[in-house]
Amino acid sequence: MSDAQPQSYPEIREAVRRLCAGFPGEYWQRLDRDRIYPTEFVQTLTEAGFLSVLIPEEFGGSGLGLGAATAVLEEIHRSGCNGGACHAQMYTMGTLLKHGSAAQKAAYLPAIASGALRLQAFGVTEPTAGTDTTRIRTFARRVGDDYVVNGQKIWISRAEHSDLMILLCRTTPREDCAKASDGMSVLLVDMREAVGNGLTVRPVRTMLNHATTELFFDDLKVPAANLIGEEGKGFRYILSGMNAERILIAAECIGDGRFFIDRAAAYAKEREVFGRAIGENQGVQFPIARAYVQLAAAAEMVDKAARLFDAGQDGGTEANMAKMLASEASWYAADMCVQTHGGFGFAEEYDIERKFRETRLYQVAPISTNLILSHVATHALGLPKSF
Ligand SMILES: Cc1cc2nc3c(=O)[nH]c(=O)nc-3n(C[C@H](O)[C@H](O)[C@H](O)COP(=O)(O)OP(=O)(O)OC[C@H]3O[C@@H](n4cnc5c(N)ncnc54)[C@H](O)[C@@H]3O)c2cc1C
Repeated sequence: MSDAQPQSYPEIREAVRRLCAGFPGEYWQRLDRDRIYPTEFVQTLTEAGFLSVLIPEEFGGSGLGLGAATAVLEEIHRSGCNGGACHAQMYTMGTLLKHGSAAQKAAYLPAIASGALRLQAFGVTEPTAGTDTTRIRTFARRVGDDYVVNGQKIWISRAEHSDLMILLCRTTPREDCAKASDGMSVLLVDMREAVGNGLTVRPVRTMLNHATTELFFDDLKVPAANLIGEEGKGFRYILSGMNAERILIAAECIGDGRFFIDRAAAYAKEREVFGRAIGENQGVQFPIARAYVQLAAAAEMVDKAARLFDAGQDGGTEANMAKMLASEASWYAADMCVQTHGGFGFAEEYDIERKFRETRLYQVAPISTNLILSHVATHALGLPKSF
């Protein structure tokens, strides 16, 4: 299928497609059934160097930037695979890269680039705070050379498959801060030492195979040397990494959308009912065409947001708009694809029902659509803040 726009990074895309061909639908179906982590897929991507494209060359990555990273994730998703198991290995290190000390970067980034260390857990969300991150309660109290952490997190994905975790916690109570967003700090938690020594990880089964968990902190000791940046400024550090995450998730949505459109168009040409291909009916054609139009527009916005990010410009609104447009376009395409396939859209072996479940996530996580609209309303349009 033509993609309506020229494809960036054609060699990377071709290499990712070849790699993904080794992980066909049956592989994902088997893992999905039992909620098993795709270890072999992640290992293969790591060895091929695709997870270190955002790490500068001086630390062992390829330093290609976000545009290249979007090409990798889009192709993974278009191929019917899922990057959710490891996409955070690409961007979570951004907090360390931008705000870590020289010693921290030298200690961790080369090993993250090689895949020897996995930094793909990102601990922000809490059950009682929800999207209002300033209300998090997980607290890190400084005691001598350590922080002692108590609290709880929810929906922390890949925690069981990560050596390190970026953790946002309060170091000053909200009521003692001039601004609600002050008084939070980022700690780099070594999961290999923490689990069983103050950190308990409990898997949460969800409608998709996403290795997400709940975390309980009970007097977990984290060396003060693992504080990233300055104490009390963690919220800003986390926010600065969120644009990259939103653009990369948007690229996954574009890949999902192309997967659904490819499959629907192929099926509509071959499936015969009433003595002719169902694709001869405009009632079948038009939803596929509409999905294609919506996806092409969303892809342009993802490209624009990635270009702004790589140019070091403030593209927060574009990153949000890209994520919203792409997640809505992929969801429309998912629904269209099920409808085009009729009953077969529900059959596990077609992979469509799995991808349908997977792509639904992106209108909620990592940020829900309402919160994006709120950002656009207040930041781009200057409307009054509602919270
Ligand atoms: C599978 C999965 C994986 C995840 N992985 C991670 C992870 O690795 N790390 C991590 O930190 N978090 C993770 N999350 C959490 C995710 O980022 C949140 O679920 C998401 O940001 C929404 O927050 P919430 O669930 O607390 O919803 P809530 O904040 O409770 O909101 C519920 C609904 O109300 C709406 N709403 C809330 N306030 C307003 C308002 N003021 N105006 C209009 N609408 C509003 C929201 O848009 C949403 O639709 C994950 C979630 C899932 C489901």
